[in-house]
Amino acid sequence: MTVVTRFAPSPTGYLHVGGARTALYSWLVAKAAGGKFILRIEDTDRERSTQPAIDAILEGMEWLGLNWDEGPFYQTKRFDRYQHYIDKLLDEDKAYKCYCSTERLEKMREEQMERGEKPRYDGHCRDNPNVGGDRYVIRFRNPQVGSVKFNDHIRGPIEFANTELDDLIIARSDGTPTYNFCVVIDDWEMNITHVVRGEDHINNTPRQINILQALGAPVPEYAHVAMILGDDGKKLSKRHGAVSVMQYRDDGYLPQAVLNYLVRLGWSHGDQEIFSVDEMIEKFKLDDVNKAASAFNTEKLNWLNQHYMKALPVSEVAEHLQWHFSDQAIDVSKGPALEKIIPLLADRVKTLKEMASSARYFYEEYDNFDETAAKKHLRPVAREALEAVQDRLASVSEWKAEHIQAAIQATADDLGVGMGKVGMPLRVAATGSGNSPSLDVTLELLDQEQVVARIARAISFIMEREQAQQ
Ligand code: GLU
Repeated sequence: MTVVTRFAPSPTGYLHVGGARTALYSWLVAKAAGGKFILRIEDTDRERSTQPAIDAILEGMEWLGLNWDEGPFYQTKRFDRYQHYIDKLLDEDKAYKCYCSTERLEKMREEQMERGEKPRYDGHCRDNPNVGGDRYVIRFRNPQVGSVKFNDHIRGPIEFANTELDDLIIARSDGTPTYNFCVVIDDWEMNITHVVRGEDHINNTPRQINILQALGAPVPEYAHVAMILGDDGKKLSKRHGAVSVMQYRDDGYLPQAVLNYLVRLGWSHGDQEIFSVDEMIEKFKLDDVNKAASAFNTEKLNWLNQHYMKALPVSEVAEHLQWHFSDQAIDVSKGPALEKIIPLLADRVKTLKEMASSARYFYEEYDNFDETAAKKHLRPVAREALEAVQDRLASVSEWKAEHIQAAIQATADDLGVGMGKVGMPLRVAATGSGNSPSLDVTLELLDQEQVVARIARAISFIMEREQAQQ
C-alpha cells in the first residue's frame, strides 16, 4: 500500500507555525515511506478564503521546501464530486432531507441548553421523512447505537459513543457541501492513508469515520497534533511575535533552522537537537510525537539559526542572505562575494537580517559614524594614529590580510602604542562602527582605496569636531 498523506489548509490567513509543523509531520510520514504528499486547499468557505492567503500558504510551503507530489487541489473545483456522493447517500437512504426551520432548531437548542444537555439535532426529519417543503438541508444519518473507535498515532485509543454525535448537515440549503463532508470525499478519492492534522479536529474524526463507513470507503489512520503555546503558556498568537512562517524569513531565519525547530516542537529522538532533513525523514515517527502541547522558544530557534548559518554550505546561506540584502536595498554587486562575508559574520549575529544590516559597510558608504564608537575612538588623540596607519595602508603593495596586519602592527610599533590604539580608530574609520569581525580580514574585503578614503573621512571628522569645540 502506498502511503499517501496530505496537508489541507483552509486559506483564511497565512501559513502559521502550527500549520507548518502539521505540514512537516505529514510530509515526513510520506517521505519516510516513499509515499506521496498531497496539498489540498480547503476553500469552500468562500467568504473567508482569499487568494492572498492561498498565495501565502504556497509561498510558505515552498520556502520551507515542503514540496508536494500532487495538487494543489481546490475543493471549490470539486463540487460535482461532492454532489455525486450526496446523491448516492440520499439514494441509499443514508442521508435525508431536513426541513426543520431555523426557529424550530433554535427553540430545540434553547430547550436542550436549559435542560443542561449538549445541543444536538433531535432527528425530527429522520423520523418523519415526508415533511416536505422547498427549503431543506441534507443530513447524514449517523448510526444511533454503538461507538466509533480509532487508534490515534499521537493520542492513543479514542472512542466516541454514537449517541454523542447527531445527524450532521452535509449539504446546506443552497446545496453547497459542508466542511466535514468534503474532507471525507477528498480523503477517500485522494487515497489518503494517514490524516495528520491539528487536535482541534479531533471531534470531527468520528463523524468523518461514520460517513466513510457509510460510503464503504476505507478509514485512514489518524494523528492529531497538539497545540503550540507561546513561552507564557498561552495559545500561540500574534502577541508572541511572529506566527506566520514567512515572517520568520523576513526576520532572518533560514528555512532549515525553522524546519529543525518545528520538527523538535513536540517530537524528540533521544537528546539529539540537530536534524538534517534526511535525518528527520529517517528518524521521525508519528507515534513518538508528544501529546501534550509544546511551548515556543525563540532562544532555541535563534540557536538553531546560528548553527545553520555556520553549518550549511556557504553558497546555500548566500542565497538566503542575498534576499535580505535586496530587502534592505543594499546593492552587493560591487562588494565582496557573500560567500566571503558569511564565515566572518555567522558567529556574530543571530539572523540573516542582522547579518545583512551589519555588513552594509562592505557595499555602501556608511551614513554616519556610530555615535558611541565615534565618541570613544575618534578623539583628537586618535588622529596621529589614523594618519600614520593611512600612510602605511596606502603603501601596502599586496592587499592581503597578513600585509594589512603587518601594516597595523608597524604603525603601533612606530608610535610606541598598543595595537588597540591604532586598531579601534581604524575599525571605526573603516566600518563606521566599533563592532566588526577581525580587522585584517575585514579590511581585506574592502578596497584598499576605499579604506584609505574612509580613514581620511575619519580624520576630517575628528578635525571638524575639534574645531567645533574651540
Ligand atoms: N482545513 C482544515 C484546517 O485548516 C484542516 C482539515 C483537515 O486536515 O482535515 O484546519
